Amino acid sequence: LEERTREAEERSYELEKAKVDLEFQAEQLKLNSKYKSEFLANMSHELRTPLNSIVILSEMMTHPDEQLSEEHREFARVINSSGQDLLALINDILDLSKVEVGKLQVEFNETNLAELPPFLERNFLPIVNHKGIDFLIKMDEDIPGIFYTDEQRMQQIIKNLLSNAFKFTEQGSVSVNIRKADEKQISSLIETPGADNWVEVSVTDTGIGIPKDQQKLIFEAFQQVDGASMRKYGGTGLGLSICREFARLLGGCIHVESEAGEGSTFTLFIPSLPNGLPAGMEEVAAA
Ligand code: ADP
Repeated sequence: LEERTREAEERSYELEKAKVDLEFQAEQLKLNSKYKSEFLANMSHELRTPLNSIVILSEMMTHPDEQLSEEHREFARVINSSGQDLLALINDILDLSKVEVGKLQVEFNETNLAELPPFLERNFLPIVNHKGIDFLIKMDEDIPGIFYTDEQRMQQIIKNLLSNAFKFTEQGSVSVNIRKADEKQISSLIETPGADNWVEVSVTDTGIGIPKDQQKLIFEAFQQVDGASMRKYGGTGLGLSICREFARLLGGCIHVESEAGEGSTFTLFIPSLPNGLPAGMEEVAAA
């Protein structure tokens, strides 16, 4: 009996030791992830300043008044557009790492949703003209007049979803529908909805669609449907993870429905002034 008691004690000691080791490793991983995000946030910030000068100065060089040969003017255009791509990537990384370290500020303000359709029309007019596909925006009349959210973040999410819709659609249409969200659907998507006033903004396209088995994956950072599409369409695979994180900060979520080859619908659900903000976000939201 004594022998067995000793063995049991030894095993219990080993287990306790393994548990402490694991806890230490988990803590270390958390710290590493925090350092990585902080490093990315600082680096991105530092990279933005010189890059801004490159973008602005190369833009100035493309002006017809500049004494440049047509060939050199074309070089300046390439510098400008590559600089803009890089700036967009850096801004995306900065946004994501800020979310990860809990430093992304959200400001809930009175938002007039009626201003959303003209804002989107203005922003996407050039691409609509360029691609020659229909762009339809519909907003229901019973939308709440006063809505509290972070308007800028909301616009950023919808602009990201729309950029994807245009990018992956060659013919047909891209449409936006703004309506009151169905309460049943909200409670099936969010455990504690925490607000009564919900709106959904859906972006539907008739583009290439997304296979079912990829629909979860594309919300992870740097994930794209396949490598070949990345080469054809460009992009970084960061847009949707930013959309998902921003939606979460606004107290809402994003849902996708799609059939490969038949188009996609991405829907953003957002509450007016969520009182059930994600854990730890209350102070950030109030800041
Ligand atoms: P990016 O567009 O920069 O690649 P995103 O995170 O926005 O990054 O999208 C990830 C991937 O999801 C895209 O590369 C594409 O494969 C797929 N995807 C996103 N939106 C659509 C869409 N509307 N139609 C088809 N595929 C899409």
